[in-house]
Amino acid sequence: MNNVDPAEIAKFEQLANRWWDRHGEFKPLHEINPLRANYIDERAPVAGKKLLDVGCGGGIFSESMAQRGATVTGIDLGQAPLDIARLHALESELDIDYRHTSAEELAAAEPDSFDIVTCLEMLEHVPDPKSVIEACATLVKPGGQLFFSTINRTPKGWLLAVVGAEYILRMLPKGTHEYRKFIRPSEFGGWLRSAELALHDITGMTYNPLTRNYKLAPRDVDVNYLLHASKPAITP
Ligand code: SAH
Repeated sequence: MNNVDPAEIAKFEQLANRWWDRHGEFKPLHEINPLRANYIDERAPVAGKKLLDVGCGGGIFSESMAQRGATVTGIDLGQAPLDIARLHALESELDIDYRHTSAEELAAAEPDSFDIVTCLEMLEHVPDPKSVIEACATLVKPGGQLFFSTINRTPKGWLLAVVGAEYILRMLPKGTHEYRKFIRPSEFGGWLRSAELALHDITGMTYNPLTRNYKLAPRDVDVNYLLHASKPAITP
């Protein structure tokens, strides 16, 4: 089974050379990166841990985890973003293992392998997000931690993440996000349960267009949100 939408991969392939331009199309990812990196590092200190970043793209988040001392593997199905990620890691003098593979494929080859698995701003681009979540559950070690982020399928999610970000503020290219692929926290919770993962926290990420600031908003998951889960440890 191939759980990938070639049109989605093509979008990111085309923009790949812009990945590290802090003022370009990926500006929002650069701006939210410290917020999500702190959230994850506080909940599961990453130094010395084996971390897998699923849908790593050009490596914005992967690099921040390597900087904090994690041993990072980044996977993506886009070749151009991976090429950019590899070049940038060289420039940053970071040793990151970037691979062109899917979560499902890696899960079949290397189950129970990572202390921490992250999958950020990626599930809203795949045909079957549940299958990716299950693969992440297989990839993480028993007792390991998982972090996801995506966009909520609410009228406000559409208004802010599509109309606001793509058409009014023009922070993202038109067509970056499709409303029907957004994920409600309730659906997400169901998929986590069926993958036998425990949900610990959901926290929103909000954008204020006046101050142009992002912040974590524990009680506002109407648009972007982060989610922390774990895989039960094996009990003897
Ligand atoms: N996680 C990164 C990049 C998010 S952009 C960050 O938050 O900074 C979404 C990424 O998901 C793109 O790089 C795209 O190529 C990748 N992607 C989309 N569908 C995928 C799939 N089925 N398997 C692996 N990667 C995928």
